[in-house]
Amino acid sequence: MLKKEIQIAVDKGESLPLMEEFYTIQGEGYHTGTAAYFIRVGGCDVGCHWCDVKESWNAELHPPTDVDIIVTNAAKYAKTIVITGGEPLTWDMTPITTKLKASGLNVHIETSGAYPVTGAWDWFCLSPKKNKLPVQGAYDIAHELKVIIHNKHDFIFAEEQAAKVNDDAILFLQPEWSKKEQMTPLIVDYVMNNPKWRVSLQTHKYLNIP
Ligand code: SF4
Repeated sequence: MLKKEIQIAVDKGESLPLMEEFYTIQGEGYHTGTAAYFIRVGGCDVGCHWCDVKESWNAELHPPTDVDIIVTNAAKYAKTIVITGGEPLTWDMTPITTKLKASGLNVHIETSGAYPVTGAWDWFCLSPKKNKLPVQGAYDIAHELKVIIHNKHDFIFAEEQAAKVNDDAILFLQPEWSKKEQMTPLIVDYVMNNPKWRVSLQTHKYLNIP
């Protein structure tokens, strides 16, 4: 159990369970290939069976860290900050995004959208999961919809999600890494037949970077 005062800070979003932070190249989606500082926040109960960061799920394994410390670190490295998880919207993102933006940084999120949207975002990447669908507010503000394709049924799911997202959202299909050999050719065909979609690849994994 966390000490009471730490728990209060976490509940307010003034402290976040920090799993890792690193400066790298954004590997996926619209901003692929651009330098960004990633802040990975622990805690997720969405439960995707193919999740590649299962060690993020239990927030108690990751030390509650004052957002001022996180922001000071991030500002040393990059102009663009990506908050990911875990599921960042498990927590109140208002304090950290307010402070990042006050430092003149571009603030991006990668989220399943399963919880109410908090925080102010320059780029909102929504990656819906079947287990726990996004809240309407996430569909409404998404700049980018990124659907992970693990099997053929996921193309149907992708269209269902595209019907819910706002008209300006850019649509991506991305092969789940362990199924990339089977799914990538299907995605290529699908995008050629349905050109409102774009292909997204996990290029950081091909580059062997985080
Ligand atoms: Fe993993 Fe993301 Fe699914 Fe959570 S929402 S289980 S972090 S893939």
